Amino acid sequence: MPDYYSPPEVVAVLGCVDTYLQWRKTQEPPRGHEHFHPSAFGKCLRKMQYERYVERGYMHPVEEEIKSNILRVFENGHTMHDRWRGYFEELGVLRGVWQCRNPFCAAYSEDGQIDTSLLADFSQHIPEFLKGRRKYGEEELIGVFKPERCVCGWKRFEYHEVLAANEELNFKGHADGILDFSRFDPGRYMEVKQSYLPEYLPSSPIVVDMKSCNTYDFQDIAEGRPHPYYLTQLTIYANLLDCEWALLLYEDKNNQKTMAFRVERNKDTLFARIRRQAREMIEMPNRLEDDGNVVHLLPPPKPLMRQDKECSFCPFKEVCHESPIWDAPTLRAQQIEFYGEEAYEPH
Ligand SMILES: [Zn+2]
Repeated sequence: MPDYYSPPEVVAVLGCVDTYLQWRKTQEPPRGHEHFHPSAFGKCLRKMQYERYVERGYMHPVEEEIKSNILRVFENGHTMHDRWRGYFEELGVLRGVWQCRNPFCAAYSEDGQIDTSLLADFSQHIPEFLKGRRKYGEEELIGVFKPERCVCGWKRFEYHEVLAANEELNFKGHADGILDFSRFDPGRYMEVKQSYLPEYLPSSPIVVDMKSCNTYDFQDIAEGRPHPYYLTQLTIYANLLDCEWALLLYEDKNNQKTMAFRVERNKDTLFARIRRQAREMIEMPNRLEDDGNVVHLLPPPKPLMRQDKECSFCPFKEVCHESPIWDAPTLRAQQIEFYGEEAYEPH
């Protein structure tokens, strides 16, 4: 079949959007790599350490080009999260951090009295006012249910994800949502067919993370094979947020079919390994040698070969692949020691 010829004016319209997306990426604050992101901790940790070393100025930055369609894939994932959080919010089971949407919230006292003198120069202080909108649930490990109303009287709130952090292990991330069925009202749904058994609803709060995926990946997942790095991520969340278990939810982008997994805390197995890896990663940048020099060590690469798919997406592949570690006869042993034997078992 011959390629379809797109007229230049058509290409130009879409090219504008692609250009905008690339520009918008440059306007965003840097992600920050000093802390370990739970979402990346199940992947190659050598890459994670490279990112930290670039941020600390130990290494030159590498250019990372992200194609515009990939930027749209990320965004599609975000809107999927919002949609699912909407379902859980409507069910009355969503906990998190809720920020009042009233732009004048900061002009109200805790007993709901407005100080109109504060509003006189509102237009000069809009960013401060928006920042001053009250937040509920920030001081709770797993956030709170959506408040009835803010002290200012407003009833609409913006959802913020709860922070999943641990200073000692250097973790910092945000969980998509916390589900708490303690106030769930099954009576509301009596007129429709029940698609669940109430006795199986979680008896204590759980953390949920949602992933959109393509049909090809979904077929694997539907056979009971979730991505191991997502299991690592959810294990970290369940432990840091003190939830009994975590829900890993996949949705097929083609037909919105779902597949979900219960992820345990595995405190003495997987999470023990994660803790050990985190502690080693924390020590590596400042290893003092016998000669008094400080060296910045790296963990072994996680992929078994330079040709691995994970390497092909890595912005550090060139610098990494020059390292003698790839040809060392001990590579396999180092990998198993650091990542654990289980990480290399077929899943
Ligand atoms: Zn308010």
